[in-house]
Amino acid sequence: MPRKYSGDRIDVFFEAALCIHAKECVHGLPDVFDPVKRPWIQPLNASADALAETIQRCPTGALHYERGDGTSEAADGSDSVTLVPNGPLYVRGDVTVRLPDGPLVRHDTRIALCRCGQSKNKPYCDNSHIGSAFSG
Ligand code: SF4
Repeated sequence: MPRKYSGDRIDVFFEAALCIHAKECVHGLPDVFDPVKRPWIQPLNASADALAETIQRCPTGALHYERGDGTSEAADGSDSVTLVPNGPLYVRGDVTVRLPDGPLVRHDTRIALCRCGQSKNKPYCDNSHIGSAFSG
């Protein structure tokens, strides 16, 4: 369940189970995303547009936003699958994840899929490829 961090004109949502510490957020807006501070996300320290732009760089879907007018992120049309060497598959677009028998598991714009087979959060990457010395 994502945790909400309220801002002025934009709210940020963080789902810890999906974060694999790729640090796009920390590098993009260090005054907002600071793992040392509590709370570690401080949305008031950047503009709504800067927050939205940085959040959309999170490759796993751990971060999302909702603007004050109720709009949230839409797929950016860049539909892509990116293979991370020795790591997950980053998928971007209008992504739907379903169980083999059909039920919807997730509808998102960004996900990171396990490729090593060791994740405890399948089908999502949980960084288990690092401990298992996955090569591929
Ligand atoms: S960009 Fe996403 S996956 Fe990377 S550290 Fe931030 S929340 Fe985690």
